[in-house]
Amino acid sequence: MGISENIIKLKEELPDGVELVAVSKTYPPEDILKAYDAGQRVFGESRPQEMKAKREQLPEDIRWHMIGHLQTNKVKYIAPFVDLVHSVDSDRLLAEIDRQAARCGRKIDVLLEVHIAREESKHGWDAEELKAYIAGGGTAAYGNVRIRGLMGIATFTEDTEAVRGEFTRLRELYDGLRAGGFGPEFDTLSMGMTGDYRTAIECGSTMVRIGSMIFGERDYA
Ligand SMILES: *Cc1c(COP(=O)(O)O)cnc(C)c1O
Repeated sequence: MGISENIIKLKEELPDGVELVAVSKTYPPEDILKAYDAGQRVFGESRPQEMKAKREQLPEDIRWHMIGHLQTNKVKYIAPFVDLVHSVDSDRLLAEIDRQAARCGRKIDVLLEVHIAREESKHGWDAEELKAYIAGGGTAAYGNVRIRGLMGIATFTEDTEAVRGEFTRLRELYDGLRAGGFGPEFDTLSMGMTGDYRTAIECGSTMVRIGSMIFGERDYA
């Protein structure tokens, strides 16, 4: 099947209230255009310079989401246009996004990334750390960012029940933060990729990030 058929099928499958981010990292602009022509407008990238270069070649109404680990010195490449940063994993990064957003005269929407996987290598706050940071007023200091919700990446495993446990804990953390302090604009829970998006949706995801199922196997070379 082609890229546009994949988009159309996926959109039919996703329930109302679950947004699709088409993860286009490593794929060329021609592939993105095929998805665009099938109606897709939200694309996820993991490298700032790659996102910026693609943006310059593609239609202006695409909404670009940064999903990969972001270094503070690269925020400047995407601050003028990025629609949502999923991967905010430190106060330092949040401060830099706030600073660059102010320079551009805009407010940038962000998600706080929570470390839910068994793998140590993954990024993100531990749940308890994040609760303490928020309770201490950490996020309130920044007037040019809007905290829209949480993001998490589950362990890469065939063990669906383990993945379900990780997504469920993230959903509980999200519900707790929503009830206790953040306003209605805290409305996004980004979890689920090609291998685990169905489980993520069962656990309450509102945004899935899907790449290889749409565009085919990725070639990092
Ligand atoms: C690459 C990536 C995805 C998409 O992965 P697929 O398995 O190709 O769907 C989702 N989220 C993040 C953070 C990624 O880096």
